[in-house]
Amino acid sequence: MKKALVSGVTGQDGAYLSKYLLDKGYEVYGMYRRTSTPNFWRLDYLGIFDKINIISADITDFSSILDAIKTSQPDEIYHLAAQSFVRASFESPIATANIDGISTLNFLEAIRMYDESIRFYFAGTSEMYGKSVQYQNKKLNEESPFRPVSPYAAAKLYSYWVTKIYRDAYKLFSVSGILFNHESPLRGLEFVTRKISNEVARIQLGLSKELRLGNMDSKRDWGYAPEYVEAMHTMLNSKNPKDYVLATGESHSVREFVVEAFKVIGENPGRYVKSDRTFLRHNDFDLVLGDPANARKELGWKPKTSFKELVKIMVKEDIKRWNLWQEGERFPFDAPYYKEMDMKKKGREILE
Ligand code: NAP
Repeated sequence: MKKALVSGVTGQDGAYLSKYLLDKGYEVYGMYRRTSTPNFWRLDYLGIFDKINIISADITDFSSILDAIKTSQPDEIYHLAAQSFVRASFESPIATANIDGISTLNFLEAIRMYDESIRFYFAGTSEMYGKSVQYQNKKLNEESPFRPVSPYAAAKLYSYWVTKIYRDAYKLFSVSGILFNHESPLRGLEFVTRKISNEVARIQLGLSKELRLGNMDSKRDWGYAPEYVEAMHTMLNSKNPKDYVLATGESHSVREFVVEAFKVIGENPGRYVKSDRTFLRHNDFDLVLGDPANARKELGWKPKTSFKELVKIMVKEDIKRWNLWQEGERFPFDAPYYKEMDMKKKGREILE
């Protein structure tokens, strides 16, 4: 039985990937950061919490990573843990550099010193391309230049390069996926797609009256997360270690996402959507569009869920959750968030 160690197991991709690997017969070890209130709602939601060996570890601490590797003895490591929110990287740039940059070096060094046969996947991102105006009308591929414009993207780019350097210099099987946005009902509420699906669901049920958004003209290449984790596994099980762009090859604006989301509830967005400058990003860029041709040709991977289907899946799932919440059901979905809503319902103030 193959063994995999997954960092960031409590996140969207960590949860879907763990499920995918368990279904393939893997023994899965999930690394999480110890917090006073553990955040396992996604693993509960997928019904896999009891099937994963949970390891508490600090990815910014080399010894902690080495211990996790010694405990799990993995064939494959998927390093997905990150401070993954671009705006937050401007608020805590140094922590982001450690969490999203140095952590990768910790893994690579631990593999180099302990067992060079372990295969390593790093979660790279389209944010590494940044604001590359001259390339904006072209699809971005593995050869496109990187121009990061946030501390998040710069830290990720460090990780990307060091993963490549260890592959070339030490012959490790270490690769990066350059993933464009991928969404799902397990996406965090701080991200615009889930913010929209959640608020549209609340509007339908009379729990909210408005949706406040920043730049509605930003265009992104949005895919469906469960399909992207499959490609991570294929990359680590390929003959040759290589980096790949994973994307849909189609772009849609935030405005289009909003329109599709309101269609699901049969409403007109105009009545509800308000523009709010506080949600504008520093150094935002208008268009991100990926070219997954190499992944298609060499990995046999291609996204299946359309943009419209993705929006529908997300809105419908949020409606289901809020319906359950209204019926008084207590459940693991976004548990801390729903608890906060419980408190608000009872008239308790939450201090921001
Ligand atoms: P996510 O839902 O935000 O999950 C991030 C994971 O990292 C969570 O398990 C989180 O733990 C963990 N984490 C955060 N800070 C940490 C720290 N200081 N120490 C240890 N763990 C920490 O992100 P995702 O959407 O699953 O994305 C997975 C990876 O792909 C990330 O590296 C992200 O940057 C990258 N990526 C994502 C996308 C996308 O569109 N989703 C696109 C490109 C690249 P808690 O649960 O405790 O917060």
